[in-house]
Amino acid sequence: MGIQESAPLDVERVREDFPILEREFDSNQLVYLDNAATTQTPNQVIDAIGDYYRETNANVHRGIHHLSQEASIAYEEAHDTLANFVGASGGREEMVFTKNTTEAENLVAYAWGLNELGEGDEVVLTEMEHHASLVTWQQIAKRTGATVRYIGITEEGELDMDHARDLIGPDTRMVSVVHVSNALGTINPVEELADLAHEQDALIFVDGAQAVPNRPVDVEAIDADFYAFSGHKMAGPTGIGCLYGKKAILEEMEPFLYGGDMIKKVTFEGAKWNDLPWKYEAGTPLIAQGIALERAVEYLEGIGMERVQAHEEWVTEYALERLTEFDDIEIYGPQKAENRGGLVGFNLNGVHAHDLASIMNDHAVAIRAGDHCTQPLHDVLGTAASARASFYIYNTREEIDRLVEAVDDARQLFA
Ligand code: PLP
Repeated sequence: MGIQESAPLDVERVREDFPILEREFDSNQLVYLDNAATTQTPNQVIDAIGDYYRETNANVHRGIHHLSQEASIAYEEAHDTLANFVGASGGREEMVFTKNTTEAENLVAYAWGLNELGEGDEVVLTEMEHHASLVTWQQIAKRTGATVRYIGITEEGELDMDHARDLIGPDTRMVSVVHVSNALGTINPVEELADLAHEQDALIFVDGAQAVPNRPVDVEAIDADFYAFSGHKMAGPTGIGCLYGKKAILEEMEPFLYGGDMIKKVTFEGAKWNDLPWKYEAGTPLIAQGIALERAVEYLEGIGMERVQAHEEWVTEYALERLTEFDDIEIYGPQKAENRGGLVGFNLNGVHAHDLASIMNDHAVAIRAGDHCTQPLHDVLGTAASARASFYIYNTREEIDRLVEAVDDARQLFA
């Protein structure tokens, strides 16, 4: 594997936008490699939140005063920007703001699953699903009598597509798959899975929490019926996620939460639902977060998503190269950087992942250790926990060297 010499983007320039990266712990400068959990926030997004509260703060859709009108327009337009970012030509009508990816999964599982599923129906997931989808569909299946089935993985940590073709059949009503695995880094063939689902008149939900931050995503090219992601994993604020849904399906589906703002007309006998997407945004919505997430998207678009992806691959390739120098490190998932998202899950023989993360922390290297909300996948891998280093636009090859030095320290300590 040859390592490209220069970074695809000006990392030093990018780093200037992220003041938190200047932090030091015991005189060691922070190396932040926990981006699959949450990315850091650039000044532009921090300012968007401050500007909103300083200049525009008001509730939306209810006021006829200036502030409410301005907040409403900004909030609504943020939906258009997000829709456009993932290639949803229906604009705001196809883009629902939720709390996070988890809530988007629950929205569809409750609003669609509870009403549509019954005995004999099947929901097909993968063995690498995040608990956000796995636990949610298990619970909905329990309540409806449907069965959950799981597409297996190969030795390389890729989906077993022969198994997928076997499992997705006439009883399948929903296929819910993770686009990029948060534990293995595997990029799944979601277009092919969408075709398999649609051939059986089933729907497909794609969990894009680890895909949208790192690569160009086009929900229409995938032909996803639903596609979800989280703002805090893509330089945006916490507390906001997005659910893309095809307009025709969102129009048909029942609401998830009830209350103000999601209704058009209410009588003592019942209610008529609001237009899309507001039908799915009950109560006062995520106004500041939505507007700040739009700023994060503008920031990423300023860099260009192709360059973001190239940078992720550049850092990941180097991390794989450095970590595979050692025989005592087991790396999970595909071996080539271009076949995976910007993260590497691994274990150091004889050292528990939590101990490893703790020694890394002594070096101010922030990684994550545990099951990464994929306990059943870890059962398949035969380990209770793994360490995960995950990268973003501000990470450098020098930081990977710091990671490897910290691994070496752990090796010496536990020898
Ligand atoms: N799906 C995947 C693949 C994830 O990596 C995560 C978060 O780690 C989630 C879903 C859940 O995201 P959130 O906690 O923002 O709801």
